[in-house]
Amino acid sequence: MIAPWRATVLTLFPEMFPGPLGVSLAGKALLSGLWALEARDIRASTTDRHRSVDDTPAGGGPGMVLRADVLAAAIDAADGAAGLPRLLMSPRGRPLTQSAVRDFAAGPGALIVCGRFEGIDQRVIEARGLQEVSIGDYVLSGGEIPAMALIDACVRLLPGVMGKADSAADESFTDSLLEYPQYTRPQAFEGRQIPQVLSSGDHAKVAAWRRAEAEALTRARRPDLWARRKAPKNTTDG
Ligand code: SAH
Repeated sequence: MIAPWRATVLTLFPEMFPGPLGVSLAGKALLSGLWALEARDIRASTTDRHRSVDDTPAGGGPGMVLRADVLAAAIDAADGAAGLPRLLMSPRGRPLTQSAVRDFAAGPGALIVCGRFEGIDQRVIEARGLQEVSIGDYVLSGGEIPAMALIDACVRLLPGVMGKADSAADESFTDSLLEYPQYTRPQAFEGRQIPQVLSSGDHAKVAAWRRAEAEALTRARRPDLWARRKAPKNTTDG
């Protein structure tokens, strides 16, 4: 059997893991060995008496910075993570997209460094070739939640994790489109009906309706996605 997809997380708060990754889809997949998770305590790589992981910023300013030597030692000590891409969760990073998630999920896994405080010393980013990844244009207090977001997005794409092999096929961001609206029973809710076409049993009609809804939603909400998408021939665009 080939090695399962592997997430090695370097964090000051290993007790945060698996956290939300331990339930539902990701949790079941973790239990059944479809992926593996290791949360490693950065503090275990300190050598001084006070076990200090951070220090004041060179040049002055508020807050604390994670030390390069401690982080490098933590990365080097992460046996089992050899050959994994090394990521640093960072608001300065390349924004995470579904296509990047697909690429990470197709690989062997990831070693993920979680920053805290003001961030981490620039020299370890360079010396250990860390690829900076952002989950959006806002600032969280640590890299753990961003790491969980990245891992969750990858894990649900691993073979055998989602119920139906193709349930990822027409989700949001496939084809640069947002997903069409979903409905389920009851047929009437506070006077609102499920759109009739969905009960027609006509698969082609249903597919066309969903496509049109997805396109309308994307145009209205995400003109940036709409402009970027490689338009297939027979869209409402003409
Ligand atoms: N001073 C930094 C922010 C530090 S936030 C700056 O202005 O860029 C502390 C840590 O939280 C970061 O090192 C990073 O690991 C994580 N983090 C915060 N926001 C993030 C985001 N949008 N995406 C990914 N990681 C983030």
